Amino acid sequence: MATDYDAPRNRPEDEPEADSIEALRGNPTEKQSPKVDVDEDTEGDSFELPGADLSHEELHIVVTPRQDDEFMCSRCFLLHGPSMRVPGTDHCRDCD
Ligand SMILES: [Zn+2]
Repeated sequence: MATDYDAPRNRPEDEPEADSIEALRGNPTEKQSPKVDVDEDTEGDSFELPGADLSHEELHIVVTPRQDDEFMCSRCFLLHGPSMRVPGTDHCRDCD
């Protein structure tokens, strides 16, 4: 009876190894072609509104429209309030 148990035991142990090799082969291929994945997602049903959903997908920076009294520095490209603007220029005091 003992030998009967050993025979089926050895097979399942071998199969996961073969699977892991295939998994190792498959993973790098997926990482090397991210663009292909994006295209597949876009065609799928999970991405119906790419532009609208992306804002809260992985973006941690809150993007707010530029206020009227703000200006974008021509050197560091950051938005600053009017008090940070060097008079007569288009860059901020940090970059002056
Ligand atoms: Zn600046």
